Amino acid sequence: MPVQGLGPYDDTNIFARILRGEIPCRKVFENDHALAFHDINPQAPTHVLVIPKGRYVSAADFAALASDAEIAGLMRAAGHVARMLGLDAPGWRMLTNMGEHAGQEVPHFHLHVFAGAPLGPMLARG
Ligand code: AMP
Repeated sequence: MPVQGLGPYDDTNIFARILRGEIPCRKVFENDHALAFHDINPQAPTHVLVIPKGRYVSAADFAALASDAEIAGLMRAAGHVARMLGLDAPGWRMLTNMGEHAGQEVPHFHLHVFAGAPLGPMLARG
C-alpha cells in the first residue's frame, strides 16, 4: 500500500503502460530498477524522466517502501543519464513533484532531469 496522498497504485497510469511496452517512449537508458526516457512535453532543451520499474505512486511511497537496491538503481540511472548526455559540466536540475500542491500529474513516481540552458530560479515566484 502507498504511504499517503495519492491512493493505491493505478496499473493503468501512463508510465505503467510504458513499462509494460504498451505505449512507446524515447528511451535514454535502462538498468535493472529504472527506466529513463524523454518527456513528451519538454520544459527545457533536455527533459528526461527517470522512473522506477516498481509500483510506487510518489516520492513518499518510494522513499518509505522501495528497497535499497531500487533506490540506488534510480539514483544511479539519473546520474548515468546526465553523464551520457554530457550534462554535468553545464549543469542540470533534478526535481520531483509529490502530490497535489506540487502538481503531480502521473501517479507513478518519477524524477525530472532538466538541462540544456540556464534553468532560472528553483521555484516560480508570485
Ligand atoms: P508530473 O507533473 O511531475 O507528474 O510530470 C508528469 C510528466 O510526464 C509531464 O512532464 C508530462 O509531459 C510527462 N508525460 C506524460 N505522458 C508522457 C508520455 N507518454 N511520455 C513521456 N512523458 C510523458
